Amino acid sequence: MKLLKKFVSNKILKKKILIDTTKRFVLSFYKYFFIVNPQKILNKIKIIFEQNNVLGRIYISYEGINAQISVPENFINKIVYCVQNLHIDLKNLKIQKEIHNQKMAFWKLIIKIRPQIVSSQIKNFFFNPKKVGKHINARTVNKYIHNKNYVFVDMRNDYEYQIGHFKNSIICSANTFRKQLKNLPKFLEKFRNKNIVLYCTGGIRCEKTSSFLLFLGFKNVFQIKGGILGYIHESKKKKLPIYFLGRLFVFDSRLEERITQDIFSKCKNCNNFTNNKYINCKNNFCHLLFIQCNVCSSIFQSFCSKKCQIFKKTFC
Ligand SMILES: [Zn+2]
Ligand SMILES: [Zn+2]
Repeated sequence: MKLLKKFVSNKILKKKILIDTTKRFVLSFYKYFFIVNPQKILNKIKIIFEQNNVLGRIYISYEGINAQISVPENFINKIVYCVQNLHIDLKNLKIQKEIHNQKMAFWKLIIKIRPQIVSSQIKNFFFNPKKVGKHINARTVNKYIHNKNYVFVDMRNDYEYQIGHFKNSIICSANTFRKQLKNLPKFLEKFRNKNIVLYCTGGIRCEKTSSFLLFLGFKNVFQIKGGILGYIHESKKKKLPIYFLGRLFVFDSRLEERITQDIFSKCKNCNNFTNNKYINCKNNFCHLLFIQCNVCSSIFQSFCSKKCQIFKKTFC
């Protein structure tokens, strides 16, 4: 019953946004800094955001803040000003604005207090999250990407890497960020004497990862300023060539954004290349996130496998 209620209210909220004609943009920002009282920050943000019809997801912890929000166009300057004045450490906060008008990115406001803004579980007294890898801009990225002494490491999830990534980049595959971080030192050991360039969607995972690698004695660790989003934004603005190829997975209802025409994704069923988007298996007990080509889609009807297809027919 509770689930049903949630489902219905989500549907109503979605509809509300859909018929609303307000132009909206997605803003994202994060910052590692010590917050004495996360609840106080949460209360302040809640009032401002609710008053200005801001939607999205905000995580606050003792170690900082991480947010992706959808803001009505008219309130963007006001919200940026308010966020930068929330706390002295947010004064020079860089807020990333997405280029397109995005109405359907979020349909509700979720603000939560979390133990960490990105979960990783690095627990060591000597670990210093403030000592991070050097940030590099888009022009430098384009220079390093063709240099064999630089290794580009994707710090996102496997399913994100599968549909698009930086040219020549590698990934240490794992189901969770925590596991990826754990396996990373061994994975990168053979590149210890090279320059490591880390990247993720918005840059936040690389703050943590780069300080972890520096802590482990890696000498030359870089990270892309603002992550892939920052890189693309800057490249477009300065008319630089873009070496992020394929599609970018985004964490809102759009799921992905096409950056270049390159196709990396393969159909789960026949393994042929396909441009189709991720879908969830229609069997709600499975709900697997996967890609299916048009041919297989007509055979399996958006189920991930014959098994799920039969299951649904038999039990539902
Ligand atoms: Zn197929
Ligand atoms: Zn399935």
